[in-house]
Amino acid sequence: MMERAKILLIYTGGTIGMVKHYKTGSLTAFDFTTLQKNIPELFQLDCDITTVSFKYPIDSSNMNPKYWEKIAVLIGNNYSKFDGFVVLHGSDTMSYTASALSFMLENLAKPIIFTGSQLPIGDLRTDAKENLITAIQIASLKEKGRPVVREVGLYFEYKLYRGNRTTKINAEHFQAFRSMNYPTLLESGVNLKINHPYLLDPGDVEDLVVHTKMVPNVGVLKLFPGITREFIETVLGTKSLKALVLETYGAGNAFTDDWFLNLLKEAIQRGLHIINVTQCVGGEVAMGQYKTSESLRRIQLINGKDITTESAITKAMYLLGKGVTSQDFRTFFETPLHGEMHQN
Ligand code: ASP
Repeated sequence: MMERAKILLIYTGGTIGMVKHYKTGSLTAFDFTTLQKNIPELFQLDCDITTVSFKYPIDSSNMNPKYWEKIAVLIGNNYSKFDGFVVLHGSDTMSYTASALSFMLENLAKPIIFTGSQLPIGDLRTDAKENLITAIQIASLKEKGRPVVREVGLYFEYKLYRGNRTTKINAEHFQAFRSMNYPTLLESGVNLKINHPYLLDPGDVEDLVVHTKMVPNVGVLKLFPGITREFIETVLGTKSLKALVLETYGAGNAFTDDWFLNLLKEAIQRGLHIINVTQCVGGEVAMGQYKTSESLRRIQLINGKDITTESAITKAMYLLGKGVTSQDFRTFFETPLHGEMHQN
């Protein structure tokens, strides 16, 4: 007989467990008991679920690298005891946390499935039940004695995505996430349809290594027509800044004024890592395709290819945390570490 999968369910907060404040009507994170009370079905599933909750569950707008560390360490400490992990998290910053965890957990070979909901669990029309129950089922899936998913995934509204490929795209629809540059890993209909070729295969990995050092001295600068020199100078002059995600137009293009290119060049020479990421939701940077990106290639911006901004930020924090050399930062950044960008 197949052994029942052991799942660790980690509750960090988010709408899924929120309740309305009796006076103001605004949603506030509540404790985990509400969730359990509202989904008795949880305990009918064909797996053993152990739950652990943040002492003070948070709205994910308050998420930060200290909490990422907490989640990573929790998973690390329990890694050998469980077959899979489900992380309940607010949707607002779920893509950032899923991306961060994908870098922090080296040699991951078990499922870590993030999920949450757009409506609280107590709401009649809630999307929480389906998201949570299917996320647990996915985390329990095994084939030939091995977990089917061996990476950080994000499950929302009938779809499992690679976590570090996602972006929250809608504050209203139940389908709140998209993965524009990578196919869905699994779809839930009458059956769970697994898209095997797209799942990450970590191969025979060594023991899990939990990296907890994330250096937050990272920034994002989104270009727009009319952006002033003073503003760009201020951003690039930020004293503690170590890496900058430059959100460019289209296939990685930017305006070609000398003052702008000189400012970028000087910052790079001072040691700032500048990464070219497109501000389009889909597609990728192709430096040199247009004249307006050829100059960026010449001054040696790092090529963010088809990475999301969420993933780029957390990857930069992770590489800075590893204290790699400038040359290695570029090489590692332009190489997919956990399926966050394409190979070539
Ligand atoms: N503000 C909430 C949060 O991110 C929204 C949600 O849970 O979906 O925690």
